[in-house]
Amino acid sequence: MKKLLILGSGTGGTVIANGMRKKLKSSEWDITIIDKNLDHIYQPGLLFLPFKLYGYNDETAVRKDKKKFIPSGVNFVQAEIKLVDHKKKTVETSAGKHSYDMLVVALGCDVHPEEIEGMEKSLGSGVNMFYTLDSAMQLQKDLAKIEKGRVIMNIAELPYKCPVAPLEFVYLADYYFTLKGIRDQVEIALVTPMDGAFSKPIASKILGSTMGDKNIKIIPKFSIASVDNKKKKITSYEKHEEPYDLLVSVPPNRGSDMLDDSGLANGSGYMDVDPQTLKSKKADFIYALGDVTDVKTSKAGSVTHFMADVVIENLMHEINGKQPSQEFDGHSNCFIESGFKKAFLIDFNYTVEPLPGKFPMAGIGPFGLLKDTKINHMGKMAFRNMYWEKILKHKPLAPFGLVTNKMSLTGKDTSLLKK
Ligand SMILES: Cc1cc2nc3c(=O)[nH]c(=O)nc-3n(C[C@H](O)[C@H](O)[C@H](O)COP(=O)(O)OP(=O)(O)OC[C@H]3O[C@@H](n4cnc5c(N)ncnc54)[C@H](O)[C@@H]3O)c2cc1C
Repeated sequence: MKKLLILGSGTGGTVIANGMRKKLKSSEWDITIIDKNLDHIYQPGLLFLPFKLYGYNDETAVRKDKKKFIPSGVNFVQAEIKLVDHKKKTVETSAGKHSYDMLVVALGCDVHPEEIEGMEKSLGSGVNMFYTLDSAMQLQKDLAKIEKGRVIMNIAELPYKCPVAPLEFVYLADYYFTLKGIRDQVEIALVTPMDGAFSKPIASKILGSTMGDKNIKIIPKFSIASVDNKKKKITSYEKHEEPYDLLVSVPPNRGSDMLDDSGLANGSGYMDVDPQTLKSKKADFIYALGDVTDVKTSKAGSVTHFMADVVIENLMHEINGKQPSQEFDGHSNCFIESGFKKAFLIDFNYTVEPLPGKFPMAGIGPFGLLKDTKINHMGKMAFRNMYWEKILKHKPLAPFGLVTNKMSLTGKDTSLLKK
């Protein structure tokens, strides 16, 4: 019996388990998935919990049992993964050693507030985040207490998971304080190491101008060095200071130290993979997908899902004695909540930045690219159900192949691209 081992049963690992169990005969291939946690968190929902918006009131809106999404015929092991020995093709865990013929790494990335001086000890008392369930619930309490003052959303450094989440946070904060009738009492600012609202120029201009319209200040080129929670200020490496009453942070993100120790990652815990085939550059028989990869596109669920198609096809090629041939183009597709029951949509890849237009059908849409519309918001709201029912189970997202892992130029205003 051959063995396919999957490390991590978040978005990526679960899609691979479902996709591969449909492809491989159970009489020939044993499939095992390992994760330290039993809860599957719908991470996009963590953004709404602090505001108690759209029915996201508590953990029941985002949490389910991981095992519900692991297909029959796949073994689930709850254990901490400690080391990959790619020469011996084994993986050490807190529950013993596992051997593999093919390995898929989908271990995601995590926040590290301890890397910013003064941040970790301040968490929960005027400093908070929304990247974990506990912190999102704590932030709900902190936001409810605010009646006036300065709320700043700080991005510590790049790359970080879900690049649009901090933008959504400031747009939703504007909506939340407007609903509470105290918007004129609360100053909202996005403090970012980037030049503007977003890393891609056309989108940055449009999203930044919407922030201007909503009286949200952007403070660019700010690389945070420390948090002083007694004096309620953050300081950059250039000694610039920004005061706050509530600091909401995206702390530094890292992949897995264990992957660095295993000789598979780039020094920040991110898997060194070929950006097209998603095969490890450091060892044979290993693929990776999702936030744990060191590729130049967003760390997002949509990307993870598109990568899964490529990894599944390439695994099948290798298993059948051929070279991996499927190529990932960096396709990313994200709704950006802008408050007032509206959202933007962006769709891009390694080479084409987000452009205005219609998605997925030219002239028809129904979704608007780089435009905040009610239909986009409805799409974002419908996404949670699609995540549990379609994405994790590796079912097609849209009929007639309208949305695939390859980005399409259909409906996009390409005249804006630099010649
Ligand atoms: C606030 C927020 C909003 C977001 N919004 C969106 C959005 O609107 N659209 C979008 O596309 N994406 C969004 N995302 C991003 C999306 O959730 C992630 O990109 C996606 O879940 C990545 O999947 P993954 O499989 O790579 O990692 P994960 O789903 O994080 O899974 C990693 C798994 O590995 C396990 N693990 C890690 N290390 C070990 C170890 N040593 N031993 C055992 N198990 C281990 C973890 O327990 C986890 O289950 C958002 C994320 C956040 C935080």
